[in-house]
Amino acid sequence: MRKTNLHLFLAIATLAAGGAGTFADEPPAPPNIVLIFADDLGYGDVGCYGAKGYHTPHLDRLAKEGVRFTDFYVAQAVCSASRAALLTGCYSNRVSILGALGPKARHGINDRETTLAELLKTRGYATAIYGKWHLGHHPRFLPTRHGFDEYFGLPYSNDMWPKHPETKEFPDLPLIEGEKTIALNPDQSQLSTRYAEHAVSFIERHQDQPFFVYLAHSMPHVPLFVSDKFRGKTPRGTFGDVIEEIDWSVGRVLETLERLGLDERTLVIFTSDNGPWLSYGDHAGSAGALREGKGTSFEGGVREPCLMRWPGKIAAGAVCHEPVMTIDLLPTLAKLAGADLPEDRTIDGLDIWPLMAGQPGATSPHEALFFYWGGELQAIRSGRWKLHFPHAYRTLSNGGGHGGMPAKYEQRRIELSLFDLDADPGERQDIAAEHPDVVARLKSLAERARDDLGDTAAGRKGKNVRPAGQLGAVEEK
Ligand code: MG
Repeated sequence: MRKTNLHLFLAIATLAAGGAGTFADEPPAPPNIVLIFADDLGYGDVGCYGAKGYHTPHLDRLAKEGVRFTDFYVAQAVCSASRAALLTGCYSNRVSILGALGPKARHGINDRETTLAELLKTRGYATAIYGKWHLGHHPRFLPTRHGFDEYFGLPYSNDMWPKHPETKEFPDLPLIEGEKTIALNPDQSQLSTRYAEHAVSFIERHQDQPFFVYLAHSMPHVPLFVSDKFRGKTPRGTFGDVIEEIDWSVGRVLETLERLGLDERTLVIFTSDNGPWLSYGDHAGSAGALREGKGTSFEGGVREPCLMRWPGKIAAGAVCHEPVMTIDLLPTLAKLAGADLPEDRTIDGLDIWPLMAGQPGATSPHEALFFYWGGELQAIRSGRWKLHFPHAYRTLSNGGGHGGMPAKYEQRRIELSLFDLDADPGERQDIAAEHPDVVARLKSLAERARDDLGDTAAGRKGKNVRPAGQLGAVEEK
């Protein structure tokens, strides 16, 4: 529908000329899946998205050998809400997981939801998560109860511990293996390496069956920690060191797949849960040319780098500009695995395999994507257009903090504003007055979302919202 297709056409033409694969409409044999999910890594934090001051050769290799999405979104620009959407294929508001769950939370992912891991298990996949979970830390909410055979990692954010720079309210931070706490306040400088080595071991152990590894890095969420291998290595400072270690972990995965001869049977996906936490200044990432960051519905909060590589099935060097979202991964991966989607409930995500495979003329399957902050519908994107409804947002007028200490955000307000993201991805020029027809169309699409998912700003409750899981509640699958 837009400039996308030229890039995809060129990529396809290149691949076809080399005879490296075909792009039939029929899905290929079920792939192994490695989903690498960074935390608070922004749109401008990967080399092939313009990062400066450090290098990401392995991530850049994913782009060179696969497809790079330029308009890939998360459902909300905050950890738990974003992860709920990723793993259920639904808007965070649909499954009632909002914000970032802390150690006092008594809710988590509902037993009745079907996670991506549970769907893949129906097709014989071995499943594992190494890293941050953040969908509830009580046993009934842990990954092992929601489709994952193995778990090693933190149940919530790595700053929710007694050394938080601003609050002393947090208890000791547990490191969990399976369902057992194996350490309190673990040495965070070892987390990225330990997660990666677990992933490598899992791939080695399950090389003869389909597997799904969810490598959910705790970094570069603050507090930043890096192992000796990377400490002090980049001009960008600790943040750059941390990103180079994440990049190294991607390299560990790729070299393992290559060594085991699994390259052409494995789909590797890399993205992040939300944009940079800008108040942390030199310890935060960058949204590049996009506006604002984590905790906002501007592009800097919700648009993320996304790379996908599957040699022979995804064209090398492809670029996709179509707007899609993490919610699309569950239905797409379920289709690739041959798993049936639940039919008794709404799944918001749609199949984006035609975009991944570079099928000619493929466009985003979404008429619109909705951006909520908490229960408030703040913005909607349809095609090139993004309409913000009047809402408050946080911003920094004097820059961010230093050395792991955050600066204070200020509250501002945006009124009804329309942006043309093709011409103005930085959301600078409000052109609502020039396009009343577009504004009217997007407003009417938003009404559908309010009816379906609610909108606290309009005092609306959604008709089709499902509850989160609650401690003590009895739920049936
Ligand atoms: Mg995050």
